[in-house]
Amino acid sequence: MSLIQLIYTSTVSETFEEKDLTAILASAKKANAEANITGLLCFDGNFFMQCLEGDRSQINATYAKILNDKRHQALELLAYSTIDKRSYSQWEMGLVPKAALSRPLNLLYTASGLFEPYSMSAASAAQFLRALRNAMPLL
Ligand code: FAD
Repeated sequence: MSLIQLIYTSTVSETFEEKDLTAILASAKKANAEANITGLLCFDGNFFMQCLEGDRSQINATYAKILNDKRHQALELLAYSTIDKRSYSQWEMGLVPKAALSRPLNLLYTASGLFEPYSMSAASAAQFLRALRNAMPLL
């Protein structure tokens, strides 16, 4: 079994409502716990950026479901690699508070200083998420 980390970004669909985020998180946490998947989800009201880590076949199957979810669109895979250890083992799916997507952090990883995950390299995306993790309380 290979341990994989996958990071993608997407754009919220027009029909998305705030309550959808609560439903996504609840079902993601349950399904991820069953599949031993851990990770982190960022959402600024426009873009999603999510990291999933776990067994390769479980990650691939979960990403296939996420790809077909009409609550978001324009998915782009930012990073997919084998890893030696997990970065988000404490979260079945942690949600980054919107306020944490701050200008000082964005300036480190994007030219505009805005939350623009589509412009991030694989390395930037991984580092950006780890910086957020380090600033987050354990939930
Ligand atoms: P079913 O429950 O059988 O649903 C069938 C289809 O309807 C699927 O295409 C599903 O995506 C879609 N669907 C389900 N509920 C709704 C709804 N309320 N509104 C519109 N369409 C709906 N799942 C995980 O397991 N782990 C994750 O980490 C995870 N993260 C996600 C992050 C984002 C940003 C989004 C949008 C979704 C995420 N999901 C996650 C949910 C995932 O996309 C699937 O909905 C879920 O895995 C159930 O898939 P299913 O094929 O069993 O769907």
